[in-house]
Amino acid sequence: MKLAPKPIYCSFCGLSNEQARLMISGMNGAIICDACITLCVEAHLLPKGLIHLSGPRRMLAADIGVTA
Ligand SMILES: [Zn+2]
Repeated sequence: MKLAPKPIYCSFCGLSNEQARLMISGMNGAIICDACITLCVEAHLLPKGLIHLSGPRRMLAADIGVTA
């Protein structure tokens, strides 16, 4: 019997590895998905501030809340 691999989740948005195209893990155990990577790239174009993620789901640029 083969066990299903344990799902892993993005540390930032909660997306699972089954939903994400790509997951990257860091040395301290943090994991980021391709959607959050895209968000980070898009955030680079926004005014300086803090980005707040609103929940565990696939994010769109329109979901980004920016506070100075
Ligand atoms: Zn994510």
